[in-house]
Amino acid sequence: MQPIELSSFLRDHKQPKYRLEQAIRSYFVEFHDSWDSVSTWPAALRETCKELTWSPLRLELTSETDKPESAKMLLMTEDNKRIETVIMRHADGRNTVCVSSQIGCAMGCTFCATGKMGFGRNLSSEEIVDQVIHAARYLKAKDAKVTNIVFMGMGEPFHNTDAVFESIDVLTDQDLFGLGARHISISTCGIVPGILRMIEDAPQVNLAISLHAPTQDLREKLMPVSIAYSLKQLMHTLDEYMRQTNRKVMFEYVMLKGVNDSLEHAKQLVELLDPYKRLSHVNLIKYHDTGMYKATDEKDRRAFQEYLKRHSVSVTHRISYGEDISGACGQLATKAGS
Ligand code: SF4
Repeated sequence: MQPIELSSFLRDHKQPKYRLEQAIRSYFVEFHDSWDSVSTWPAALRETCKELTWSPLRLELTSETDKPESAKMLLMTEDNKRIETVIMRHADGRNTVCVSSQIGCAMGCTFCATGKMGFGRNLSSEEIVDQVIHAARYLKAKDAKVTNIVFMGMGEPFHNTDAVFESIDVLTDQDLFGLGARHISISTCGIVPGILRMIEDAPQVNLAISLHAPTQDLREKLMPVSIAYSLKQLMHTLDEYMRQTNRKVMFEYVMLKGVNDSLEHAKQLVELLDPYKRLSHVNLIKYHDTGMYKATDEKDRRAFQEYLKRHSVSVTHRISYGEDISGACGQLATKAGS
């Protein structure tokens, strides 16, 4: 639901201006799922909304998988496409919602289950915002709040840039959802124009790069996007991003046994990031076996991580939230489909 759309609806139905404020509050602050529960509205207006089958939520919650550290919601669009949204609950009290920006993905990364689905369609900004509102409703029932949002679900956010930036405008608007931009992260496989737009339009939003390979040859094999936007061009753009924003960039590196996890690869990664060490952080990600590759052995992952540390590269190993509910990165497609 967009405020502008609701505003014209209320105007058409000759409602006073303060109704808009009430409606916005019911959706963005109180997280009502139907007009029935908006007690500040007269019954006749609620009935009109119902007759027009006008729901505050565009997506319908069809199932929920609840675990102590994470939850996965299966949401249905109005044209019967399924979207998965994952909520990660951290020990320090943060609750991160991992949203999807597309149904499927056209980027075709060879290790990614979503990539194997192919491309369905872009999600609208309303559908992106609705995922967060559903997560907020889920958390409200547990006396908790959404504290962080990551665009790391299905799809490449910079393949749907307008809707992603529109949704961020709504989510950070203090009169609407009101989350600080620094609590939002976009993860991209390296779409250069999207990164450049981020410098202009959303410099406070965090940037994560799905890197996964330290050389052009290997990256092309794993991520076809690297043919269109080479590693050299990507690093040049990130140089510009860091220079203009002075913001840190997170590099995601999924560890694939015998593919990108040797000490030689670690050495190449150190060389690649050497000029950017001050503003780089590497996140090593455990690969969740989807049959395409195998996960790196624990001892090899440790050796890789130690090598980076010894060469002053800031590095962590990502805790695999969502693994137990098939909601981990790159696995969102396996059970959903479109
Ligand atoms: S890793 Fe990201 S960009 Fe690549 S295919 Fe999967 S969802 Fe798309």
